Amino acid sequence: MKEKTAETVWKNCLRVIQDNVSPQNFATWFEPIKAIKIQDNVLNIQVPSQFFYEWLEEHYITIIKKVIRKELGSEGRIEYSIVMDNGTGKSEKAVMLKVPNINTNLRNNPVSMPIDSGSIRNPFIIPGLKKVSVESQLNPNYCFDNFVEGDCNRLARSAGYAVSQKPGGTAFNPLLLYGGVGLGKTHLAQAIGIDIKKNFPNKTVLYVQSEKFISQFIDSIKNNNQNDFVHFYQMIDTLIIDDIQYLAGKEKTQDVFFHIFNHLHQNGKQVILTSDKAPVDMQDIEQRLLSRFKWGLSAELHQPDYETRVSILKNILYRDGVEMPEEIIEYVARNIKTNVRELEGAIISLIAQSSFNKKEVTIELAKSIVEKFVKNVKREISIDYIQKIVSDYFQLDLETLQSKTRKRHVVQARQLAMFFAKKFTKASLASIGSQIGKRDHATVLHACKTVNNLSTTDKQFRKYVEDLTKKLSI
Ligand code: ADP
Ligand code: MG
Repeated sequence: MKEKTAETVWKNCLRVIQDNVSPQNFATWFEPIKAIKIQDNVLNIQVPSQFFYEWLEEHYITIIKKVIRKELGSEGRIEYSIVMDNGTGKSEKAVMLKVPNINTNLRNNPVSMPIDSGSIRNPFIIPGLKKVSVESQLNPNYCFDNFVEGDCNRLARSAGYAVSQKPGGTAFNPLLLYGGVGLGKTHLAQAIGIDIKKNFPNKTVLYVQSEKFISQFIDSIKNNNQNDFVHFYQMIDTLIIDDIQYLAGKEKTQDVFFHIFNHLHQNGKQVILTSDKAPVDMQDIEQRLLSRFKWGLSAELHQPDYETRVSILKNILYRDGVEMPEEIIEYVARNIKTNVRELEGAIISLIAQSSFNKKEVTIELAKSIVEKFVKNVKREISIDYIQKIVSDYFQLDLETLQSKTRKRHVVQARQLAMFFAKKFTKASLASIGSQIGKRDHATVLHACKTVNNLSTTDKQFRKYVEDLTKKLSI
């Protein structure tokens, strides 16, 4: 038999992977991987950063496992070597570390489960009980440490933290986390589960997507073992069901969940749910279930504000050991607002691009990546932001810019801020005036005219307008 080399094995893997992921993702996440060696059915691959590894594990592990098994048989495994590169291409000292792709501490202990006595064969098992192992289905990356706190998630986060300290023992049962897509519901729900596992290793924690719950239930009807299905869920200590909005219109599933829920609740077990809507907005969910949801706490996850977005980005960079100029971070945070998943995707893509193309991260690169992530990049500049840029440019502080002083260079700066506010925002003259030093609308109008005039007659002034326009348009 021909010896398998790391490269040929990996090449075969890539062929299958390429058919299963988008070209952009393939270029971003698979092309930079180098196959290093193969030994005892373990293929060692080199990735450019810790985050890269985590991203692969989180998003592509299913396909990777599948192709590795196909190539190397059921014993096949993958091992990562992380070679850090700071993105400038200057790092001569690569850091090599190995990460085992197993995680054991999230395992549940086997638990006893009543099942039909007819199927028990082993006489040493207490009749009516069978030990089963329940995989917690928790993803170790979704922990509290990686969850950045901000105004947008403070209530949900602290309620979640309280639950993790005392599952089933707080008023937050069930804990319902709700909010729009990509705002951290799954992450937070899993973080609670992970902490419960840490604090109470003997508790059985189970995370399940509601689609999976629904399909398991349908299967149990087909196989005529509905009771097993119900019993299985009733013996969980902390049950996390993600995206329960999918239960809408599924009456039978709602019915069975109602019974499971009651049993867990009565026995002091913790239930954590997530949904893309508040209970009042959920349609086609039975009233009796909705009223149960309200027994505990419904906490909303909101869109992160600018500061939180910056912290989330910095957190990712920190974990990844990558340095990035402040202005790039700010650029990304300013342009991706609605969704943490996109924010994360953009910065990771940026790290990836720079580390394997050995490109310096520039605003242009950031711009092109952000555009890919945000369909319809809608530029929206706030008056606050304009004032900040203008005062920085003239090395004034904001108070001076807004003050009543008649010093010429301050007046010019203020007029420029008004001019750009008119140009780049939809705010009225009156609103611009009141935000820039409490002036009236006539002052703003006058400022706009003055800027227009001066920029045709005064070369220096024209340069100001051009410079600032550039700064405000990135
Ligand atoms: P949802 O379930 O609400 O759609 P997710 O929990 O899947 O959102 O979050 C999307 C991505 O954003 C995940 O990768 C998650 O780790 C990240 N994320 C969301 N909120 C935060 C946060 N506060 N701090 C750090 N990462 C976050
Ligand atoms: Mg989710």
